[in-house]
Order: sequence, then structure tokens, then C-alpha cells
Amino acid sequence: MSALIIDGKALALTLREAIAQGVQELVKTAGIKPGLAAVLVGDDPASAVYVRNKKLACEKAGIFPQEHRLPASTTQESLVTLIHQLNGDERIHGILVQLPLPSHIDTKIILQAVSPDKDADGFHPVNVGHLVEGDPIFVPCTPKGVMHMIDSTGEPIAGKRAVVIGRSNIVGKPVAMLLLHRHATVTICHSRTQDLPGVVREADIVVAAIGKPHFVTKDMVKPGAMVIDVGINRLPDGQLVGDVDFDRVKEQAGWITPVPGGVGPMTIAMLLQNTLESARRKAGC
Ligand code: NDP
Repeated sequence: MSALIIDGKALALTLREAIAQGVQELVKTAGIKPGLAAVLVGDDPASAVYVRNKKLACEKAGIFPQEHRLPASTTQESLVTLIHQLNGDERIHGILVQLPLPSHIDTKIILQAVSPDKDADGFHPVNVGHLVEGDPIFVPCTPKGVMHMIDSTGEPIAGKRAVVIGRSNIVGKPVAMLLLHRHATVTICHSRTQDLPGVVREADIVVAAIGKPHFVTKDMVKPGAMVIDVGINRLPDGQLVGDVDFDRVKEQAGWITPVPGGVGPMTIAMLLQNTLESARRKAGC
């Protein structure tokens, strides 16, 4: 048996076309062009690539991109000042602060400075609270993309056993919460989990968000399970791989996402979606 591939690239393309259409309609009906501000502090090359890709994606969707590149020496106070300016900027409906920030800046303070109404990444505690309550406003982009991929299979989630590996605030915890709200029975695994392979073997849905290449092996996966690979890892030879041993696990799983071309493209599409939804809320439609 070979798993069906959940093609994130194709799904993201369809989504981005619909977003572009939605942007055009909003401009026509309400005269509002959605705007996304991206703030990048320092010169981390990977972060610079992410921000550039997000900017290009905005332009293609008709969203107004505003980019703020600040030196690594930027103080926390001046970053907070910039974010407050963006909070008050009528042209901006989503603000993203590219992580990680330099170590002298307190990430928590910065994320809390972003207005919850423009929190395109969904990291503000107010939005985390809404998510936990099951009434989200901004859903973090990667978890939102994961749910879209699962839904694209047409498989019901309710009643399924789901195992999320990883408990970060940006991926593991929100994914687990979204699956719970869709009535899955959810277990979250982390570095202290005992018999992790045994726990994962019980899962109908596995979401791997660890950051360790080929961590999820074939023997850990129940035949027919759905395996969503969030991980992005660069091997010494430059190859990009996920957290799942794709070539072997696909012989066992029912559905699987590739890396690259899986969750990654969905994350950007969901950022655009969150910005459009924010602009729609502003317009009252
Ligand atoms: P973090 O490093 O914040 O969290 C990793 C999690 O994995 C932690 O909860 C950690 O456990 C757990 N973990 C680490 N080692 C083990 C282990 N041996 N056994 C069990 N659990 C383990 O990572 P992120 O959540 O930010 O990202 C995870 C991966 O997803 C990364 O590869 C990242 O690049 C990728 N990513 C991809 C995105 C996309 O768009 N496709 C977006 C965001 C992230 P503990 O808490 O106990 O330390």
C-alpha cells in the first residue's frame, strides 16, 4: 500500500487564487485593500527568505505589503514603538513579527504589543485565549494550514485518535486545540513522553512538529493513518526534509504530506487568509 499524498502546493495555490478573488471583491465592495506589515529584525538569512516570500505572496494576492527591516541592534523600545505605529495604521490589517528575534529582545513583550485585532499570526494571548475557548478569531497560520490539509482528504476528524508530537506555542499546542475542538481524542507528545512510539502507533492522525529529521519511522505508524509533517530540517548535504521518514512511512500510512511541498506552502496561504479575514472584519463584512 502506498499513501495518498496531500499536496500542500496544489492546495495552497487554490487557496491563494480564492484569496486574490476575495481581495478584489473587498476592494470593489468596501474600498478596502488588505495590508500586511512584516517586521524583520536582524540579518538571519532564513528569516529574510521567509519575509521575502511572504511579501511576494502578498503582491500576487493583491494585498498591500509593508516591509520593515531593522538592524540587529534595534532596541526593544523602538520595536514596540514601531508596532504601536502599525497598530494605528489604517492601511494595515495584519502585522507579523518574524521570529526568532535577537536575544536582547523579549519576544513575549513584542508579541503582546501587536494589537489583537491585527495579530495575523494569532500569537497574542487574547487570540490564544479565544482559540482555547473554541471561538478563535485569528488562528495561527501553520496549525490552520494543517487543519485545511486534513479536511482536504474528506476524512472525518470527530472520534479519531490524534497524536501531536511537539508542544510549541506556535504549532503543537494550537494544532492539538483545533483537533480537540473538532472532537478528536488528542494526545500531545514531547521530549519527556514515555514510550512515544507506542503512543504514536495508536493514532489515526499524526501531526509531527518536532524539528528532527526522519523522527517518525514506519514502525511508529498505524496502517492507514494520516501523517502530517510540519517539520522543516536542512540535512548536511543541503537537502530539505521533514520530521517523518517519508519514503518508508508512505508505505504504511493512508495519507501523508511531503516536505517540501506540504505544510510550508499552506502556512503562507493562511497568513494571506488571516489578513483578508481581518480586513473583512474591519469593513464589517
Ligand atoms: P520547537 O523547537 O519550538 O518545539 C519542538 C517540540 O518538539 C518541543 O515541544 C519538543 O519537546 C519536541 N521534541 C523535541 N525533541 C523531541 C523528542 N526527541 N521526542 C519528543 N518530542 C521532542 O519547534 P516548532 O514547534 O517551532 O517547530 C517544529 C518544526 O516545525 C521545526 O522543524 C520547524 O522548522 C517546523 N515549522 C514549520 C513550519 C511550516 O510552515 N512548515 C512553521 C513552523 C515550524 P519539549 O517541549 O519537551 O522540549
